[in-house]
Amino acid sequence: MTEQLRNGRRHADEDEARAWVELVETACRSVADGLVVGTSGNVSVRVGETVLVTPSGVPYDRLTPDDVTGVDLAGRQVIGTLLPTSELPLHLAVYRTTGARAVVHTHAVHATAVSTLVDELPLIHYMAAALGGPVRVARYATYGTDRLAEHMLRALDGRTGCLLRNHGTVTHGTTLGQAYDRTAQLEWMCRVWLTASSVPGLTPHLLTREQLTEVSERLTTYGQHGSASSA
Ligand code: 13P
Ligand code: ZN
Repeated sequence: MTEQLRNGRRHADEDEARAWVELVETACRSVADGLVVGTSGNVSVRVGETVLVTPSGVPYDRLTPDDVTGVDLAGRQVIGTLLPTSELPLHLAVYRTTGARAVVHTHAVHATAVSTLVDELPLIHYMAAALGGPVRVARYATYGTDRLAEHMLRALDGRTGCLLRNHGTVTHGTTLGQAYDRTAQLEWMCRVWLTASSVPGLTPHLLTREQLTEVSERLTTYGQHGSASSA
């Protein structure tokens, strides 16, 4: 039986401790890759019925294995003493409505810039298919609010990523690696669109929905599927 601490919280089990290390690595990577500055952004990973989250306002490189911070799906803190991310509503909304196991939120610069310009990222590149289709921009709401989480869910419908107006990105996946990679692809696509659309006198060609659908089908067999080399 899990040992109960005095405040009703418990210690992380082995799976949670392992997931925490990966979560901190992912959060540190988001700073190293320039997707966030300082303590902006947050990362979470689901282990069973527990969601491990980055604590609010703590530089990621200061987080140790003793800082595991976990909540249940209702948002009650079950592990740790550090205050969970202020964007808890956003992370929990994703876990409650999808089969996601990891969520990454950043303030990536090109994605944030695009979020102020359009309601949907124009189909500048076929990698939009890797996020489920044209990436939408969620309506603006104050950070950390239930309202922001609601707007995000609407923008995420049928997608694994969206932009948050005047704020940043949210992506999810079945692993931290997958969620992170989707953020990196999204930021890259936003950069391509901004670059192409800022050439004076020229307008970028865009893909059609049909062309994107063809890519979606093709992507289902992309990579080293089922062969010995996929090890
Ligand atoms: P936290 O430090 O509370 O995670 O907040 C950062 C952020 O990006 C809020 O939107
Ligand atoms: Zn944010």
